[in-house]
Amino acid sequence: MQGGQTQIKVVLLGDSGVGKSSLVLRFVADNFKTDRDATIGASYMGKNLQFNDKTIKFNIWDTAGQERYHSLAKMYYRDANAAIITYDITKRESFEGLQRWHRELQEFGPKDIVVTIAGNKEDLVETEAVPPEEAKDFANSIGAIYRKTSAKTNYGVEQLFRDIAAKICPDL
Ligand code: GDP
Repeated sequence: MQGGQTQIKVVLLGDSGVGKSSLVLRFVADNFKTDRDATIGASYMGKNLQFNDKTIKFNIWDTAGQERYHSLAKMYYRDANAAIITYDITKRESFEGLQRWHRELQEFGPKDIVVTIAGNKEDLVETEAVPPEEAKDFANSIGAIYRKTSAKTNYGVEQLFRDIAAKICPDL
């Protein structure tokens, strides 16, 4: 880390269809790079963010659909610094799915991982199915950062990654 670029590995978790790939694509859109590794079924993308005089490189791992089979490879979690567990604010069952993803993260992920809950599809807030207070309470109960995002409108997306960096690198 010292003197060079700080790198943060972020893994995306959450039920299929909540918008994980869309969030990553939105975040990296102007600096887009994909490598698919058939052996672990995840796609990887890199993106730099500037913080005053420091550059943080986010190495972001998306499930590439493997979450449907509940078979994320252990390597997916290895050395991860942060997890974004996403739900779709219009789909109650995707919120209930957060508990399973969090348990799985506790089982397979690094102990000191920074956990964030992203309530995605904020642009559809008129049909929100989970009271925000309930989502915040859940996030608090697991010590996670809670943010609403919209991959469609870009609401909160970069801020989510900035929050992750700030938690991991308090000296930013
Ligand atoms: P994944 O399976 O979790 O990776 O989800 P995808 O990124 O494939 O998104 C699933 C569907 O939700 C797609 O049709 C997306 O266009 C849509 N979607 C993703 N994010 C948003 C969002 O923020 N707002 C809206 N309205 N639709 C979204």
